[in-house]
Amino acid sequence: MRRFAFAEPSSVKAASDILADRKARALPLAGGIDLLGELKDRIVEPDLLVNLKAIPDLDFVRFDSDGTLRLGALATLTAVAENDRIGKELPAVAQAARSVGSPEIRNVGTVGGNLCQRPPLPARAACSSSSGRRSRSTSHW
Ligand SMILES: Cc1cc2nc3c(=O)[nH]c(=O)nc-3n(C[C@H](O)[C@H](O)[C@H](O)COP(=O)(O)OP(=O)(O)OC[C@H]3O[C@@H](n4cnc5c(N)ncnc54)[C@H](O)[C@@H]3O)c2cc1C
Repeated sequence: MRRFAFAEPSSVKAASDILADRKARALPLAGGIDLLGELKDRIVEPDLLVNLKAIPDLDFVRFDSDGTLRLGALATLTAVAENDRIGKELPAVAQAARSVGSPEIRNVGTVGGNLCQRPPLPARAACSSSSGRRSRSTSHW
């Protein structure tokens, strides 16, 4: 594994400022399930890792008064899968979170990391409609 520096900003603004500095060649680190493997395999070689876990209160799972669901980037997949209200009112969201990996992965893996993960293999996405079915490489997205 290549050597890298480690930053632990304590606010979203501080993390964003570091990550916006292109010269820093920095990557955000959440649960680390995907990213640590990519570092070991030298798939990514950043100069700096920005640990988001030091930012307080970014793991929220809450509903607004109008019923809108809000998920913090550091909310774990387990927190989403096991939330009673999500299970009752948005069962597809709970089901999606429950479908990821194993309990160990869901306990550590975050919503932000899941959404931002790099596809491990070149993949194709397909969609169907009444006019037919199309499939494209995800690299086109
Ligand atoms: C055995 C195994 C099985 C798996 N099964 C599934 C599966 O069934 N379905 C599935 O979807 N995934 C699966 N995964 C992928 C993955 O582990 C999870 O999706 C998990 O949610 C990743 O979250 P993390 O917090 O560990 O992310 P990390 O590993 O910390 O980060 C992943 C990527 O996202 C970036 N990132 C993290 N947080 C942010 C943020 N807030 N803003 C911007 N970028 C960010 C990182 O820089 C990195 O590039 C699996 C992984 C393993 C090892």
